[in-house]
Amino acid sequence: MKKPEKLIVDGKRLDGRTPDELRPLKIEAGILERADGSASVELGANKVLAAVYGPREMHPRHLQQPDTAVLRCRYNMAPFSVDERKRPGPDRRSVEISKVTREALEPVLFLELYPRSAIDVFIEVLQADAGTRTAGITAAAVALADAGVPMRDMISSVAVGKIDDTRVLDLTKDEDNWGTTDMPIAMMPRKKLITLLQMDGHFAKEEFGQALDLAFKGCEQIYGAQRQALRDKYAIKKGE
Ligand code: ADP
Repeated sequence: MKKPEKLIVDGKRLDGRTPDELRPLKIEAGILERADGSASVELGANKVLAAVYGPREMHPRHLQQPDTAVLRCRYNMAPFSVDERKRPGPDRRSVEISKVTREALEPVLFLELYPRSAIDVFIEVLQADAGTRTAGITAAAVALADAGVPMRDMISSVAVGKIDDTRVLDLTKDEDNWGTTDMPIAMMPRKKLITLLQMDGHFAKEEFGQALDLAFKGCEQIYGAQRQALRDKYAIKKGE
């Protein structure tokens, strides 16, 4: 697709959304039989799965920590998840995203409760349209809760950015390509503490505050869907 002259026309974006609107969001908890916890997130064209195993004994044993569990996260994009086939296996980008995912989730976990253990989080991107790291974090947080891992708060995550000089919530790939700024954020929705903030591009000081407000609002909405997904799973289990 060629870059259109404007990304926002009459207050509407290319896909018809207003600047402060999320893409259609669907979250499900407990979708994988063999994982201890799992979740799927669909956000617009993004489709992401998260699976959690543990807390379980850490292997290899030399990585065991005597006084705490270790959280291990692996973000992976399927070769068929993007237009041009992606080369399978880890690359610089997925190593970076795995690292920031771990750092975004760790602050809500009581890792000290599980010495010598590992909690493994696998994030698989099946279809990508920008915002997959934040969708992955959102899915992983639900999967951790589904696994029964004690948490201080949920983690909700979304990207905000700037296109046509306007702050927008939840950029698509086209908006990410042609916009000027992309800022993925993860936060604890109840405590209002930020656990991930990355920025590609830049915001002026007052724009940054407005962008943060947008992200807070987006995360609140995502938090509602995360809670609902967990409630839905619990209700089905109870009736069995
Ligand atoms: P995020 O998915 O968190 O927004 P990026 O900003 O790095 O992360 O990527 C934006 C989008 O670019 C991805 O969601 C995906 O649609 C696309 N993309 C990323 N890596 C590749 C790749 N190796 N090949 C093709 N498209 C990619």
